[in-house]
Amino acid sequence: MSHQAETAIDFAELAGGFIHEIKNHVGTLNLNLQILAETFANPTTPQERRAKNRIDRLREECQKIVDISNDFLRFTRAQELRKVLVHIEDIVEEIIAFFEPTVRQANINLVWHPAPGVPRVFVDPDLIKQSLLNLMINAEQAMPNGGNLTLVTRQEQGAVVIEMIDTGCGMEPEVLKNLFSPFFTTKPGGTGLGLPTVKRIIQAHGGTIDVESVVGLGTKFTLRIPITALAELPNKGDPPTQATKEDK
Ligand code: ADP
Ligand code: MG
Repeated sequence: MSHQAETAIDFAELAGGFIHEIKNHVGTLNLNLQILAETFANPTTPQERRAKNRIDRLREECQKIVDISNDFLRFTRAQELRKVLVHIEDIVEEIIAFFEPTVRQANINLVWHPAPGVPRVFVDPDLIKQSLLNLMINAEQAMPNGGNLTLVTRQEQGAVVIEMIDTGCGMEPEVLKNLFSPFFTTKPGGTGLGLPTVKRIIQAHGGTIDVESVVGLGTKFTLRIPITALAELPNKGDPPTQATKEDK
């Protein structure tokens, strides 16, 4: 039936292909603008100065299209999981190391409290890293004058919990209401796809995301990722390298 054929379209793949196509053309556009910018690198007349300003403006717009495209691609890919059994600590450790230079430059005091004995989770490590990074970037942007960023990893009944607490600007109820709507942003250069991507990733893992925020005080995001019972894992005979920390 033709109706069924229509519903079989993979919209994520379609959107991905479309975005790639757009990005190619924007690349060509940007390259030509770059050449044009070189021509007007040292404007001598008011007319040339105006031309240079317009070219700069167009290049910024190109960059914006590339940024939105990349965020959108990450958003569409948020549900293709390549899951492995990992310690959440290993993921957090990696993302902290990656984010350390940014944190230092932004005058942010980053502290992590890992509770001992948290069991492994069956997740896509790259996508979980992506989620934590999106939350960290938001936290950093909410603390333009520096502050504290606290990470907690712990266990709760049936779930591994990750908390991220910042001492940033916090959010008005109006912002809180729209937080997870795609393209909602309060930032001039924002894409509004960071949190919707986090939500999609965590939900694809069967988990949840919660937020508490007080204007002027800060914000706390709580991610809960369900612990998969060993019996439900596709490969029950784990190689010894995947032994849990408690086993060692
Ligand atoms: P973007 O960062 O591109 O604006 P996001 O989806 O990441 O998009 O965030 C949406 C909006 O939520 C932001 O524009 C901001 O207003 C608000 N927000 C997100 N995280 C925080 C935070 N930690 N503190 C204050 N506001 C936040
Ligand atoms: Mg963001």
